[in-house]
Amino acid sequence: MSDDPGLQHVTDERFFWSGRIIALCGATAEYGEYEIVHFFSFSPKCPDCKRLSERDT
Ligand SMILES: [Zn+2]
Repeated sequence: MSDDPGLQHVTDERFFWSGRIIALCGATAEYGEYEIVHFFSFSPKCPDCKRLSERDT
């Protein structure tokens, strides 16, 4: 788990009614915080998210 704002997380769940996003590594972002958490950026991938997404197949 990492809160590093420079990492890009992989979305695990997205709650449309609240706008909250939960990443594979457990990081969360509320509506309006996506830029802070870099869910939709080209930043380096969060190593935890990357590992979990590759294992989850
Ligand atoms: Zn992550």
